[in-house]
Amino acid sequence: MIQFGNMILQWYTKYKRDLPWRTKPINPYGVVISEFMLQQTQVPRVIEKFHEFMRLFPTITDLAHASKSDIIRAWSGLGYNRRALLLHKFAQEVCEKYDGIIPQLSKELIALSGIGPYTAGSIASFAFNKSEPAIDVNVRRIYMRYFHGRDQGAPMGKKQEKELYDLVKKTIPNQKSCDFHNALMDFGSLLCRRKKPLCPQCPLTKSCTFYPLYDKKKDNVLHIVKKKQEKGVIENGKHVPNRIFRGRIVEFVRNNDGKAFTITTLGKVIKKDYSVKERLWVMMLVQNLERDGLIHITKKDAKLQLRLQN
Ligand code: SF4
Repeated sequence: MIQFGNMILQWYTKYKRDLPWRTKPINPYGVVISEFMLQQTQVPRVIEKFHEFMRLFPTITDLAHASKSDIIRAWSGLGYNRRALLLHKFAQEVCEKYDGIIPQLSKELIALSGIGPYTAGSIASFAFNKSEPAIDVNVRRIYMRYFHGRDQGAPMGKKQEKELYDLVKKTIPNQKSCDFHNALMDFGSLLCRRKKPLCPQCPLTKSCTFYPLYDKKKDNVLHIVKKKQEKGVIENGKHVPNRIFRGRIVEFVRNNDGKAFTITTLGKVIKKDYSVKERLWVMMLVQNLERDGLIHITKKDAKLQLRLQN
């Protein structure tokens, strides 16, 4: 266990990525922003947006006092806009319950809006160097491969999750939780990748139980996990998840806040091959965005006036 942790750390000293939220000294607020942004969004896109967001809302108090519409606007380009609202709520709760000081422990963090088990662990370890596991898909994949010789496909049961949690906890090097978790993130994204892990370049091949399954001829591995298809519709012959269309509607409202449109106009803007048969589907997307607190709808004759929530 200790050997695994030390090898990962050793690899990290040589190959670590220089990311804007990995500051010295650590800025816990910056870590929180990055963690919310990184849920479902790729690192290069988050890097682009991170500085701008921090410039607009430099402290947790600034964020808590900002309007929803300003935050939704600043979130442009990151997708999954509901995260912006959850982050806003998180900031307000930290200001109300903790006087603007971000709590350090998972058990306190998890009671706040937008925080699941992974984000609680990640803030505790990245921002406060607490020895608390932060288990995302990358970490799960690395541990399942290295210790159990397989990729994790089906969701785990509670017992397996607990076993994995205990395993990760045992491997966190003393006082090095922040570096170790950063190392795992980089290791999972640069080397032990979901598709085509770079096993021949890995320093753990001798002890990794997955390595013998590595198919050198095809330069690939067995058991690649298939992702479950999200709800969506066909656009130009391809399945596109509804969340992409939701994102397009919010982007449209960001640029046309308060203007009125017919459903057909909106449909044509968000879907390349829109047909009038899809009116109800567009209406459902718009209503769901209002239900989620992202936009506000007013009906005006045969048109809809759309606004970002304030
Ligand atoms: S040998 Fe391959 S599967 Fe094992 S930890 Fe390294 S990259 Fe991952």
